[in-house]
Amino acid sequence: MASTLYGYKWKKARAKFLKEHPVCEGVCKEDGRVAAASVVDHVIPHRGDLELFWDRSNWQALCKSCHDRHKQRLEKSGTVTGCTESGVPLDPNHHWVKSKRGKGG
Ligand SMILES: [Zn+2]
Repeated sequence: MASTLYGYKWKKARAKFLKEHPVCEGVCKEDGRVAAASVVDHVIPHRGDLELFWDRSNWQALCKSCHDRHKQRLEKSGTVTGCTESGVPLDPNHHWVKSKRGKGG
C-alpha cells in the first residue's frame, strides 16, 4: 500500500501548492470558470513512484467536482484509489462506505 505517502509531508506540500494554485486547473479553467481548488491531483498516476509523486510538474490543482470527474474517468479504465482527506472513499458505492451499514455487531 502506498497510503503512507499521504502523510504529514504530503499535507504540508499540498497546502502550499494550493496556496500557490488556488484556482481549479481542470475543466473549470478550460471553460473559463474560476473555482476554488481543494484537491491536488497527480496528472500521471504515480502508482507509488516517489519521483512522480513528489514531482510538482505532475501536480494539478482541482476543485472537488473536477477531481471526482477525473477519478470517474479513471474508474472506467481501471481501479479507483481516490479518497477524501479523512480517508473515506469518494465513491459512495465503495464497499467501505456500504459496509458501515447493516452490520449487527
Ligand atoms: Zn474544477
